Amino acid sequence: MTFDELKLSEPLLRAVKAEGYTTPTPIQQRAIPPALTGQDVLGCAQTGTGKTAAFALPILHRLSAGRSPPPAQGRPIRVLVLTPTRELASQIADSFQAYGRFTGLSWAVIFGGVGQHAQEQTLRRGVDVLIATPGRLLDLMGQGLVSYKALEVFVLDEADRMLDMGFIHDVKRIISALPPKRQTLFFSATMPPEIQSLAQGILKSPVRVEVTPESTTAETVEQKMFFVEREQKRHLLVHLLGDASIRRALVFTRTKHGANRVAKHLASSRISAEAIHGNKSQNARERALGAFKDGSCRVLVATDIAARGIDIEGITHVINFDLPNIPESYVHRIGRTGRAGAVGTALSFCDGEERAYLRDIERTIRRQVPVMADHPFRSGQSAPVPSEPGEARPRPSNEGRRHNSGGQRSQGESQGEGRHRRRRGGRPGGQGASARSSEGHRGSGGRSSEGSSRGPGGRSSEGHRGSGGRAAAAPATAPAASRPTPPPVRTAPKWL
Ligand code: AMP
Repeated sequence: MTFDELKLSEPLLRAVKAEGYTTPTPIQQRAIPPALTGQDVLGCAQTGTGKTAAFALPILHRLSAGRSPPPAQGRPIRVLVLTPTRELASQIADSFQAYGRFTGLSWAVIFGGVGQHAQEQTLRRGVDVLIATPGRLLDLMGQGLVSYKALEVFVLDEADRMLDMGFIHDVKRIISALPPKRQTLFFSATMPPEIQSLAQGILKSPVRVEVTPESTTAETVEQKMFFVEREQKRHLLVHLLGDASIRRALVFTRTKHGANRVAKHLASSRISAEAIHGNKSQNARERALGAFKDGSCRVLVATDIAARGIDIEGITHVINFDLPNIPESYVHRIGRTGRAGAVGTALSFCDGEERAYLRDIERTIRRQVPVMADHPFRSGQSAPVPSEPGEARPRPSNEGRRHNSGGQRSQGESQGEGRHRRRRGGRPGGQGASARSSEGHRGSGGRSSEGSSRGPGGRSSEGHRGSGGRAAAAPATAPAASRPTPPPVRTAPKWL
């Protein structure tokens, strides 16, 4: 199928061509036709599948079709896109900019963490498409700055993340303010029961489109597991980063403190690294992302929530410094590499306390992750002298445990951790913060000083596609003899 066959308007086809897209992805092939006719869509798809264009293109088509151009001033909001994080909101705005640049339509993004004034101005001027995170949108709604009288389409993006991040009540409040007569496009990577019932409540006879079945891992991502004691993880990381084929690595830690420590350790080992998490200012996050994108920083260390929505081309490796305690997060994390058909590698560190997480992950992805037995920091080995410049000899320490103890909990690091606790009971002394994630724009003591707006912005020079790259083989894979034959893997369809 081609984009022409989707019967999109000429300005959209021109824009898609300019983006270098030749074939619609499966979610685009299946979601665009019903969305173009005004039907509701329930899309089960993660980022990386092309879902943004799957909703943005039909929206832009419908908005621009058969209407006289709206006034430049005082345009009513015709589309609301609700998304959980600032990064996602910015990326969606970039996508509208890319696909809608020949349409004469306008869009704006509002999210927290920045001043509100510019966003107020934008709303007063009016936009066709408003892309927002829930906390700031509610603030602005409360101030009477948002009118949904002309709303035609509502997009709920990453609904399951909204739930994980504790935004579901905010989302419901926003939905209750929308006119019931509208088109709703609903996207979620997974469909836990609360999300299913939300979808049932707001969608009318939706067309269900599922492109990546829940809990699948991209076929194009090679996965490897390293068993290592907690205090040796940072040395293993430096050791692995000695491999120059790891050109652009996204390293995941469970906590903000952990992200800072790892970035600091890498820097002391002369490896360019930045940490990104919710305690960082918007400016600092953007700087770090910019440096990672332009290659001046080789390693980005992130928490799950901070990394959510990061769409950076050519991440060759995802490294799970800490295993996620929610198995689905593993799927999301490793999906940051091997995107858009490129190959990538996911390396995961598992310490003694994380074995249960590994079991959950393997059950969820329905495969066993090959274990790399041949590395100098494997569990039970005495610590070797590291060879990296500036690297101190590793000493057994309690550092890793310390930052996971209740006393130094990282508040709001991830609401997903709360979800995990329901499932598995949490790690000993785990992060018990029940407050909303600060990454998700709201503090426990009320609203944070969210705010700042962007009008239609320029697209990142990264474009959208990269070749990615496969890592040179790291240490050899352990013999699989001791493991039972894994059941068949549910694979994500390849669309490139
Ligand atoms: P998304 O799932 O919306 O985050 O998109 C993932 C990536 O795929 C983005 O970098 C898009 O620019 C890219 N993309 C979306 N649609 C297509 C397409 N039809 N062909 C090639 N790349 C695409």
